[in-house]
Amino acid sequence: MTRVIVPISGASADAVCAQARAARDARADLVELRMDTAITAGASAAALLEALPGLALPAAVTIRHADEGGSWSGPESERLALYAEADRRGAAHVDIELARWDGAWRPARAGLILSHHDFTGMGPGHEGLSALVARMHAAGAMAKIAVTARDAADLDVIRRLCLAGAGVAGGIVAVAMGEHGLASRLLAGAWGCELAFARLEGNTGSAPGQPTVRDLLDLYHLRAQGKETRVFGVIGSPVAHSLSPLIHNAALRASALDAVYVPFRVEDPVSFWRACGAWIEGLSITLPHKQALLGEMHELEELSASIKAMNTIYRGEAGEGGDGIGNAIGGNTDANAIVRCLEIAVGRLEGRKVLVLGAGGVARTAAFACKAKGAIITVANRTEGRGRDLAAEVGCEAVALERAGGCAYDVLVNGTSVGMGKPNESPWPAAWHRSGTVVFDTVYTPLETRLLREAVAAGAITVCGLDMFISQAVGQFCRWTGGEAPEHLMYRLALERLS
Ligand code: NAP
Repeated sequence: MTRVIVPISGASADAVCAQARAARDARADLVELRMDTAITAGASAAALLEALPGLALPAAVTIRHADEGGSWSGPESERLALYAEADRRGAAHVDIELARWDGAWRPARAGLILSHHDFTGMGPGHEGLSALVARMHAAGAMAKIAVTARDAADLDVIRRLCLAGAGVAGGIVAVAMGEHGLASRLLAGAWGCELAFARLEGNTGSAPGQPTVRDLLDLYHLRAQGKETRVFGVIGSPVAHSLSPLIHNAALRASALDAVYVPFRVEDPVSFWRACGAWIEGLSITLPHKQALLGEMHELEELSASIKAMNTIYRGEAGEGGDGIGNAIGGNTDANAIVRCLEIAVGRLEGRKVLVLGAGGVARTAAFACKAKGAIITVANRTEGRGRDLAAEVGCEAVALERAGGCAYDVLVNGTSVGMGKPNESPWPAAWHRSGTVVFDTVYTPLETRLLREAVAAGAITVCGLDMFISQAVGQFCRWTGGEAPEHLMYRLALERLS
């Protein structure tokens, strides 16, 4: 099973001991004692070695050379003497860079980790990295590769290294550092890594992109992952703020599925999909990629095709459209979610006058989805020409946002970003609200927007953007698993996080 390892350092042996206790309390399996950074911070090497046997968790000892991102620049003989002493004092592992290891010394008791680091890129690429791993294994060591993902497509290199190295004596740990490589850390269990590096809450970690122990264990369920674990995720840029991992992982867990859902920060979605799509069963797609993969799908749902945007990828029947990425279907659960939220509030949309504010992605989806249900749409956008273009595509009226107060409507949908993160801003003047109408704000940060507050005060019925967010996630979950989503659980978790 993949063990969770927490790098620890500090300006004194006492500080290091305290961190080891914190790592144990956080449920890590072992610590990586970074002697190089601790010594640079002022700790004495002798005191660190003395503290080693009493640490709260078994320790891998690392004295990382400056050549590979560490802070050791002293004589090599001195470094080897410290490693030898760490071995005598019960280190569980010692980690030495392959490039600096000449084979003359090896630990008597500790496990040997031979490592390779690149803080700027993917080093020699898949073939070159495979060759390094082979040399590490030939030396009887655990192979450690830490390179830097330039985009999420690089994750596939790491995955192939891990799967090939996992069956070999010594084992492997391979990560792509940085936000684009985060999933390689979160999927360490599924990919058969010996170790998963994680940080303590409030610490920055020893390398870019380390998740917290808590997230690794409680959100991504590292210890439940295995090679059969199904992988789902969300692509976007940025994606770190997404609530989707929180609610989808909880839903997968509550449904007793061997599956995990991870964020993928992606800049080039087509390259990512072609490199990684074959091992990802389902994806959520968020900004700015909702149109980028339309041409990559075997099939598009009808609404995705007419809206020309999709937020979900799922799989067709096995064999349909071929294997790997060939049987992918693009869906738009945002559209269904908007309709569902509105129908709960107004009943049937047929014949209802729906005034859509905005002409961006969400407004577009709302306009097409309501039109498909027989509603009479008007689009009101700040940039009038953009609103007119959307209206022409949908087949409806357009009006400038500043003149929209004169429009008759039963349902007002805010598809602009006004109010997001700004509780005192609204796209709609309070005096324009009408009693008895339905006002739907797709913005859900904050949960209670100024638009909704003023709508309630005017006697309107309101629908909150969180309803749409949960509803689109429920639609995704059903497509991916064929089962029913635990909607209340998903709603409660999102509500707790946003509150
Ligand atoms: P988008 O494509 O960037 O479109 C933004 C729209 O807002 C444009 O029509 C823009 O008008 C308008 N706008 C921006 N600033 C404005 C201002 N100061 N006054 C008037 N109009 C303004 O964004 P999107 O993807 O459609 O997302 C819009 C909002 O939907 C997001 O902010 C998010 O809160 C919400 N959302 C909710 C969910 C959910 O599940 N509930 C999902 C996704 C998004 P111009 O054309 O004039 O620039």
